[in-house]
Amino acid sequence: MKIGIIGGGIAGLTAAYRLSKSGHNVVVFEKDACLGGQAGTFDICGQPLEKYYHHIFTSDSDIICLIDELGLGAKLKWLESNVGLYYQGKTYKWVDAFDLLRFPGLSLVNRFRLGLTTLQLQRHKNWHDLENLTAQEWIIQHVGRKNYEVIWEPLLRGKFGERADEIGMVWFWGKIYLRFSSRGKSMQKERLGYLMGSYGQVINTLAQKIQESGGKINTGTTVKKIIVEDNQVKGILTDRGEELFNVVIATIPSSSFLSLVAELPKNYREKLQMTTYQATACLVLTLKKSLSPFYWMNISDTSMPFVAVIEHTNLVKSSNYNNKHIIYVSNYLTQDSLLYRMDAAELLEYYLPYLQKINPEFNREWVEDCFLWKDEAAQPIISTNYSQHITEHRTSIDGLYLANTTQIYPEDRGMNYSVRLGNKISELVLDNTGIE
Ligand SMILES: Cc1cc2nc3c(=O)[nH]c(=O)nc-3n(C[C@H](O)[C@H](O)[C@H](O)COP(=O)(O)OP(=O)(O)OC[C@H]3O[C@@H](n4cnc5c(N)ncnc54)[C@H](O)[C@@H]3O)c2cc1C
Repeated sequence: MKIGIIGGGIAGLTAAYRLSKSGHNVVVFEKDACLGGQAGTFDICGQPLEKYYHHIFTSDSDIICLIDELGLGAKLKWLESNVGLYYQGKTYKWVDAFDLLRFPGLSLVNRFRLGLTTLQLQRHKNWHDLENLTAQEWIIQHVGRKNYEVIWEPLLRGKFGERADEIGMVWFWGKIYLRFSSRGKSMQKERLGYLMGSYGQVINTLAQKIQESGGKINTGTTVKKIIVEDNQVKGILTDRGEELFNVVIATIPSSSFLSLVAELPKNYREKLQMTTYQATACLVLTLKKSLSPFYWMNISDTSMPFVAVIEHTNLVKSSNYNNKHIIYVSNYLTQDSLLYRMDAAELLEYYLPYLQKINPEFNREWVEDCFLWKDEAAQPIISTNYSQHITEHRTSIDGLYLANTTQIYPEDRGMNYSVRLGNKISELVLDNTGIE
């Protein structure tokens, strides 16, 4: 069977690996010059590094199994994470219950309320009963407006901007519940998984294995159209020409998929139109000195123009990167926003005074290098009753499948779930075609 896969991110490559391993003739089409999509890497300080900060949790079983299967298990290290919170001009350690109890931004009653409700949510297994509530409604009702405004609202606004009030409680539940389950029963300190040498090795090893099984990978090739005849997929048209396929799997954002295939039925098109995303603009800086002691610093201050600062070299030692310190300044934006349209130099200039608020000693002289990465479909907007909006993987067009991050639920997007999507879609294709 000849299978065309659109998208060389982790979902597309996992599907291609499984299907080529089962003996099928697989061709991957990736529009960028490099594979990896959102999990792609670039070279910095002589090392490959993720364009966007990446770690995994101990509960991310699908990607952990894949890493082992690819022979990379020895490189996966579980490192102690150190979380901070920036609030009203100061940074606070935000790792355990004692940090919350010491936090001066909330009254004692509110601190207890926040702690107890977080514990309650960590034990709340049934997400279905949260589906018709927004995160804002639930949080205000359970922990009060002050706790919402100080702790959660800036983070929801930072991630979803003007759409923050629409975000479903299930998305928020996932952040608390799944994070807790990754700590294990003994509630030990959180450890995050990093593949020493970067997750790019998963991408490269998948690509190598696909090619060893006879599969082809075309980078720098944009798919322009999915060819359909008599409700049956026939092939793919790229900027390099036409190629025939029995099955096509798209692992691209919903809006792109919609523009490639006109023959989708009305209800499927409507669901695709309803799924929207926040874009991301992520500034990566190499610094002479460390900005803060934290790996992950949430910014709980709506006057700051970014949502988090992730100091990668507070998770993975800076000795791996010529003793330089690497920070990601994370931002989620709409595509038409002013900040999203800025280039790396403009964004750096804009951010400098705000980075100085985090560490008053920081100045421009510390910055040795600056990179900017953008993605238009970085974070699906998860509204209330989202389960009703999710499209089927198998479309009503014979041989045409979709597997993208909008179909991950109740969990949120992440490499683990894109690996799971790749595994699932390849099983579905094999089941539906009756070929082992
Ligand atoms: C800022 C940020 C931080 C993140 N942090 C983490 C983290 O810490 N841990 C974690 O597990 N996950 C993290 N993720 C999420 C993770 O990277 C993604 O969930 C995962 O990589 C998505 O993989 P995918 O294959 O589903 O999609 P993508 O990576 O988006 O792949 C889709 C591919 O399709 C290609 N494409 C699109 N249109 C076409 C076309 N017409 N023709 C050909 N090719 C096309 C794109 O170029 C892309 O390569 C993060 C993501 C972002 C944006």
